[in-house]
Amino acid sequence: MHHEPAPVSDIFAWDSQFETGIRDLDRQHRHLVDLINSLGRILSSETEFVESALLGVFDELSDYVVFHFSYEEGLMAPFSSGHESAHRQSHAEFVQQLAEARAAAKISPFETAGKMLAFLSRWLMLHIVGTDRRLAKKIIAVESGLSVEEAERAASAAMGDTGEILLHVMNRLYDNLATKTCELLETKRRLRREIDAHRLTEFELRKLSSAVEHSPVSIIITDERGCFEYVNPKFTELTGYGFHELDGKTPRVLKSGETADIAYEKLWKTISSGRAWYGEFHNRKKNGEHYWDHASISPIFDSSGKITHYVAIQENITARKQAEEHLQQQKQFSDDIINSLPGIFYMLNEHGRFVRVNPQFSDVTGYSRGEILDMTALDFFDGEDRDRIAARIAEVFEKGESWVEADLVVKDGRKIPYYFTGHRTAFSSKPYLVGLGTDISERRKLELELVRQARMDMLTNLPNRRHFLDLAGQELARANRYGSVLSVLMIDLDKFKSINDEYGHHTGDKVLIKFAEICRQTMRGIDITGRIGGEEFAVLLPETDEKRALDAAERLRQRVSEEEIESEVGKIFHFTASIGVATLSPASCDIDILLSAADKGLYEAKRSGRNRVVSFRP
Ligand code: GH3
Ligand code: MG
Ligand code: MG
Repeated sequence: MHHEPAPVSDIFAWDSQFETGIRDLDRQHRHLVDLINSLGRILSSETEFVESALLGVFDELSDYVVFHFSYEEGLMAPFSSGHESAHRQSHAEFVQQLAEARAAAKISPFETAGKMLAFLSRWLMLHIVGTDRRLAKKIIAVESGLSVEEAERAASAAMGDTGEILLHVMNRLYDNLATKTCELLETKRRLRREIDAHRLTEFELRKLSSAVEHSPVSIIITDERGCFEYVNPKFTELTGYGFHELDGKTPRVLKSGETADIAYEKLWKTISSGRAWYGEFHNRKKNGEHYWDHASISPIFDSSGKITHYVAIQENITARKQAEEHLQQQKQFSDDIINSLPGIFYMLNEHGRFVRVNPQFSDVTGYSRGEILDMTALDFFDGEDRDRIAARIAEVFEKGESWVEADLVVKDGRKIPYYFTGHRTAFSSKPYLVGLGTDISERRKLELELVRQARMDMLTNLPNRRHFLDLAGQELARANRYGSVLSVLMIDLDKFKSINDEYGHHTGDKVLIKFAEICRQTMRGIDITGRIGGEEFAVLLPETDEKRALDAAERLRQRVSEEEIESEVGKIFHFTASIGVATLSPASCDIDILLSAADKGLYEAKRSGRNRVVSFRP
């Protein structure tokens, strides 16, 4: 934008026609011309002190013309024509004019300087070309040996070209003026352009400053030492500090003590080395309240690259920080819940891939968290469990929730029965499954135990009546299906009431346990023995015809009768059993009929004296 002013050419150019032939005179004239031109230079200069500079030139001019005029008047001494007195007169007038101009310059320097320039130019031209030239011619003529009178005549004759010379000099002066006018017009145009540009800049500045004033973020400008030079209204609104309170202070007033000193050092190092700095501060308002802001601080340089200011733009991020903190707390809370769950927690994406698990998941499966996140839910199951799990996962995504029991296959190959739940949830508008898996090994064991207890007789650990009937029914159905043979024994201990009576109930129990043991020892693995009443037992013998059943019954009876029992008081005694045998026939293809047939055999055995085996055929 800034232009150096074009060099100013001389207003009054020296012309060879000004030379009189007397060297000293010419030199003095040249100096006068210089002084006139220095007036022009002062007027065009950008100095603030035009007035005093003008006065200086006027003073120098006054001094110099006094010297010059006295020199000229010395030269005039030998002559005394009317020319000389007119010449002296013009000197006096000039001195007078100059004194007036000097006085006027104090009031209106430019106007006076303009008038003086015109006056001086005109005067000098006429003075040199007219009067001084004539004087010089006279002196030169006298020096060449002419008398004063002759010299005066010769000079007058030689002055005939004065008009021509003046015309020539004036033409040059006009040329010069025309050039000067053009220069001035050019300068004026340039100045106009610069002013317009300045006006535009000023408009831009006004716009920017309005933006700063109304900015929704705080804006601070400091000098190069960090002292406040400007704060916008938002800053005052946020911190409570008005600019008048910040004069001479630095943004240190906002220090809360919560930001480490090292952070401030880093900040200063960065911005004083000419780079921008971005970061967060924990600051304090005037009222003591704390707040968080995110700041961007940049240095401003002058044209020589030196830092003159810093601009800080600060955005209050307290709300965001609080929200972040809240979120962090919520996350911690949900982590705590998930980590304290009494089971394995999992979050699966739509493809059944793990996106989150709790530490218990690793503890249970033996896989690291990283390994688990590379696996899918189905990788933890095998056999038909896999298909069931896949179906249930699909169900969760379709219906919202589901549950399933399946065996979790862990890293070392063990299978652990688990109960899994699944709930559909959404995260970032994508569906996920979250759920909990609980180890149901204990429950499984209890269930099995319950089943066992429901089916088995506690005292003898033999199938109870109902279970025996179930097993026997199945066996009978199979025999009917394949047309194979099968027999049953119905056993009742003899005079058991009297054993109880004689040795006590406890010893009676001991007898029952002993009998069961003998059955297990005597019967084959495929035979099914059950306790179907107090001291009544039944044995089902698959693939056994009547004869072999009678043999087995006889072996059992024999073995029982040989067993020695010791009572609580140490008395040794024996016990016996009566056995009825029935074998499968077209008439007894139902378990109840078959058993009642064997019962009839038993009844017969009792009736005929006990401790014997009787087969019954319907
Ligand atoms: P028998 O069959 O030879 O005709 O005579 P019994 O004495 O065995 O006749 P009964 O069937 O009348 O008596 C059976 C007895 O078995 C009655 C009952 O007190 C006893 N008893 C049944 N269950 C148990 C048991 O679990 N423990 C003991 N100690 N005794 C039992
Ligand atoms: Mg009985
Ligand atoms: Mg009995």
